[in-house]
Amino acid sequence: MRRIFEKLNWGKGVTYVIGHTAPDTDTVCSAITYANLMRELGYNCKAAVAGKPNKETQYILERFKVEAPQTLEDATGCRVILMDHSEYAQAVHGAPQARILQVIDHHGIGNITESHSVIYRSLPIGATCTIVYQCYKEFGVGISKESASLLIAGILSDTNCFTKASTTFIDLDAVSELSEIAGLEDLHELYKEMERATTDYSGMSDGEIFLNNMKNYSIGEIRIAIGSIDVPEMNDAEPGLDEKEMEFIDRMHAVMPQIMKELNLDFIFAKIDNHRENATYILHYGKESDEIVKRAFIASAGEDGVSAAEIPVEEAIDKAHEGEVHLERKICGEYIKFTPTVNRKFFVLPRITEAIKQKMANFA
Ligand code: MN
Ligand code: MN
Repeated sequence: MRRIFEKLNWGKGVTYVIGHTAPDTDTVCSAITYANLMRELGYNCKAAVAGKPNKETQYILERFKVEAPQTLEDATGCRVILMDHSEYAQAVHGAPQARILQVIDHHGIGNITESHSVIYRSLPIGATCTIVYQCYKEFGVGISKESASLLIAGILSDTNCFTKASTTFIDLDAVSELSEIAGLEDLHELYKEMERATTDYSGMSDGEIFLNNMKNYSIGEIRIAIGSIDVPEMNDAEPGLDEKEMEFIDRMHAVMPQIMKELNLDFIFAKIDNHRENATYILHYGKESDEIVKRAFIASAGEDGVSAAEIPVEEAIDKAHEGEVHLERKICGEYIKFTPTVNRKFFVLPRITEAIKQKMANFA
């Protein structure tokens, strides 16, 4: 395997190992640790970020006393290894003019192209950090305590502490070995602190909260974004809790038109999880976006037979349950509410993609 890496065109300068924009814990921690591994193998690699890491990631870097990677403003003309994404819409600015040496990911295949030889490693597992762990094993390179801690954090974050449908035994095995190296015994304590940091919106504007975990996608010519937001924990001893939660959701709805305009998008959606209710609210904005969400999430909305809402739901649920899962769906004013919570990658994105494709086909 080492020989294969020699075949890549590393050039003379540095190669940046960089994750997606709106950096999350998996993308940042996988970039830091994969850059460490590449350096162990003798390649001049440096971790970078494509924006300011989110609060959860900032907490992890502080807790494990790891310096935040440098921000790469523009990747034009650079050699890069992309972590945790494969879409230009999510990549660092200038990525189409960069030379891509490797892609390490656990999402679908996006629209990134590269005419030179690449190493493209993608697996349908819980986190990119798990793939990085596998690479260390493959090369027989020892994992430092610091890297082990970062890899655990990335896996916990992306799998919501092993409760997401995307979690596999491979992720669980990785964490069980990594936690011995890291000397981390209480993973639930770590995850609880990560969750607390995630919903710490102090000092952030509503727009910043929305952009904190928003992803861009291209469907043909159509440009969309889907924000994923958690309703912050509120003092449940106080009366009127539901109204306060709805007020937060309405505030998120209110910033969507501005973000759509600034980023020149065709549609913008939000997936807002209210963990107290174990529910997800879907919000939409853009011309005829109501038709898209109806087609995507409410069966029988399509006039042409199969509606996107008919896509099977097994993979859709965030919480891993034993046995049967019943997904409840109801319309709450302008929002569609799902219980239990649903997943952006497996549920929201494929349905919206399908609904937009159907809409374009009808229009053509
Ligand atoms: Mn990510
Ligand atoms: Mn990830």
